[in-house]
Amino acid sequence: MELEEIGVVRNNFEETQSPDLMRDSESVLQIYPDYEDGLYEIETNDFLQVLFYLHLSDGYELVAPRRHGEDRGVFASRSPHRPSSVGATVVELIERNGNKLKVRGLDAVNGTPVIDIKPYADPFDSSSLDEDELKRNPREKVRKLTSRGDTEGLLLEAGQLHGHFCPFLSLGVVAAQFAVSELGESAPDMEEAIAIVETNSCFSDGIQYVTGCTFGNNALIYRDYGKTAFTLACRGGDGIRLYFSEENFLEEEYPEARQLFEKVVEERNGTEEEEKRLKRNWREIGFDLVTKPAKDLFDIERIDTPNLPDYAPIYEDEYCDSCGEKFMAPKGVEKNGQCLCRNCASEGYLQLDGSGLKEIND
Ligand SMILES: [Zn+2]
Ligand SMILES: [Zn+2]
Repeated sequence: MELEEIGVVRNNFEETQSPDLMRDSESVLQIYPDYEDGLYEIETNDFLQVLFYLHLSDGYELVAPRRHGEDRGVFASRSPHRPSSVGATVVELIERNGNKLKVRGLDAVNGTPVIDIKPYADPFDSSSLDEDELKRNPREKVRKLTSRGDTEGLLLEAGQLHGHFCPFLSLGVVAAQFAVSELGESAPDMEEAIAIVETNSCFSDGIQYVTGCTFGNNALIYRDYGKTAFTLACRGGDGIRLYFSEENFLEEEYPEARQLFEKVVEERNGTEEEEKRLKRNWREIGFDLVTKPAKDLFDIERIDTPNLPDYAPIYEDEYCDSCGEKFMAPKGVEKNGQCLCRNCASEGYLQLDGSGLKEIND
């Protein structure tokens, strides 16, 4: 068996510290000149697996009390005392500077010999690290993709919400990524962001995914204008509105998709083969559109004082005298001395559906 020392760890730890402290700290992996070429394109990875030689450890026990006092086998623990003195950590790659990799989360002390580095690849290496990170901040992945301007990565994720890839989902992703990164600099806190969408087409799913402003968290406002436009605003700050102006742009740029769309969607008259082709076409256009700069696709304007509603109120509960179901008090109706839900009172109500917002009286 042959192992090579390819570099060395540089950080402020002369001895092992608590895992939490080490997880939050930065280290530099200094790679030796003979191996530097092996770092080519390593920056394209957010996370790396680092294998290192536990040079301070000697001896081991196959079963011993571990960190929390309970007995564990050595292979069921992260103990540094092992038959093969190899340590492994998944770290976040912060930056590469020549032969130096600045990383966060390495649990190795200063002077530890590095023996290997590999990219941390999702399907193979999914571990509790990502889960832990996502438990702390469920939007971390979106935030990273957005700040990197990785619109293709965002589209891949947004597709999971939307169910397919299409031109207007992509337009939503591009618009939202642009607005978030523009506003991010001046916004006091993106947690306070509100998105105002003017359509409930595919476009709005791109907006919801990237901004994190959704129907459920009350940070999404719907204005029933039927325009491919949206505004991102921050409470106490300014806003930015993007409007997709070039109505004919998609038809001119992608004529085949237009014809297919007419036949398959508008006339509901396409063959199975044409349906498949449209899907493929849409996907291709979708991934093409996210490579275009927002400025080429949208009219963009700054809005100094956006008109925003108050925080979502907390309503009291009320019970319907007829069906017994609970509802938010202000939604109820007084009728013949009874307190009724809108359904039992046969009152009109507002419904948001494929045709927009409309009043239903039935
Ligand atoms: Zn769509
Ligand atoms: Zn009722």
